[in-house]
Amino acid sequence: MKSEIIFTGTELILGQSLNTNAQYLQQALAALGIDLYFQVTVGDNLKRLVEAILQASARADLVIVGGGLGPTEDDVSREALAEALGLTLEENPEARLVTERFFKARGIEMPQNNLKQTLAPPGGMILDNPVGTAPGLALEHGSRLYILLPGPPGEFKTMVDGKVIPLLKKRLGPGVSVIKSRVLKLCGIGESRVDEILGPLLRGKNPTLAPTAMFSEVHLRITSKASSHEQADAMIDGMDRRVRELLGQHIYGKDGETLPEAVGNLLAEKKLTLAAAETCSGGYLSHLITSFPGGAEYFKFAAVSGYCGMERHLGLKIDPRKKPAEALARNIREMAETDIGIAITGEGGGLYPAGQGNITIATSFKDRTLSRDLALWGEGAELRQRAVQTCLVLLWRTLK
Ligand code: AMP
Ligand code: MG
Repeated sequence: MKSEIIFTGTELILGQSLNTNAQYLQQALAALGIDLYFQVTVGDNLKRLVEAILQASARADLVIVGGGLGPTEDDVSREALAEALGLTLEENPEARLVTERFFKARGIEMPQNNLKQTLAPPGGMILDNPVGTAPGLALEHGSRLYILLPGPPGEFKTMVDGKVIPLLKKRLGPGVSVIKSRVLKLCGIGESRVDEILGPLLRGKNPTLAPTAMFSEVHLRITSKASSHEQADAMIDGMDRRVRELLGQHIYGKDGETLPEAVGNLLAEKKLTLAAAETCSGGYLSHLITSFPGGAEYFKFAAVSGYCGMERHLGLKIDPRKKPAEALARNIREMAETDIGIAITGEGGGLYPAGQGNITIATSFKDRTLSRDLALWGEGAELRQRAVQTCLVLLWRTLK
């Protein structure tokens, strides 16, 4: 089954509200194995919504509209559906029950403009809304199914779970179908190199493999469509193995796992301890590494300062011929008696909200000191995030 979803709301178009309903519905459709090829957002405008419904009808069997079922003038989803399909709206007793019940339960008289919510095209099936005034609607028309849902996220989600999913399951019949995904997370390698190495694997149809670059990481999403969860998982496992054969040394985790967590797990696994000196990142690196259970086991000490003054505050004598970051990494390790010391120094990060930062990161592990000079672009917080992310990659590689 091919679906298309349309969201209405000028606030969504203007960027005043985030379209959280989209993610919820997308995940529900994927779990049912329903293809979603297009998703459209339109403002509260009858003409454009009609256009969007007609366009969706030309390329999908299932068209879902979210929002625009309220009582006000700018809520036009019912009207748009009727106009697109050449139908007229009429008073629907079931819809009236839903809307009236809401007001009765609160002991309030129903305002006249809520009568608008009790209209439906002939043949429409009213979807009960137990948490609001707007009834939903399902309409079979030709070979297509149209579903209208209210926009407020609480109502939208309640109706997706309670009404839409059961309805679609029934329509799909007994042969279950699922779309499942797994994201493999890589670091220390660029997107184009990943693309080069994976080559033809990226052009597969099922499962599909798609890279996304995220700061200094590359995420590889494997998506499979199958008739059972087991089969979908087996297809993902097969692709997972092939990717690991080619890029295994760069994979730090999957799905919800993060790089700081992977670094923490490696430290715990290898029973190693860490201390950090941060002169331009405000403790952000230490914050990330200690944000997981067990952090106190491997994270022993951090020193955080502004651009200058770390050496003075810690009473360190740094050889002016050496790189300050390398000296700091070594010093902090010795001072805290840990296995590893890491340092991040330079201008930029949160302290210098200019467009560029010259940052040096260094690790000291046993008698080896590694450092890298980074010329990073970006504004304050973003720059800091990039610098810290690069630090985490260096740490992960050192630990591997
Ligand atoms: P509506 O019935 O479309 O006027 O929506 C009522 C409320 O739900 C408004 O406050 C909207 O901002 C909110 N809303 C509508 N659609 C969405 C959406 N897709 N995601 C998040 N909030 C929404
Ligand atoms: Mg609206």
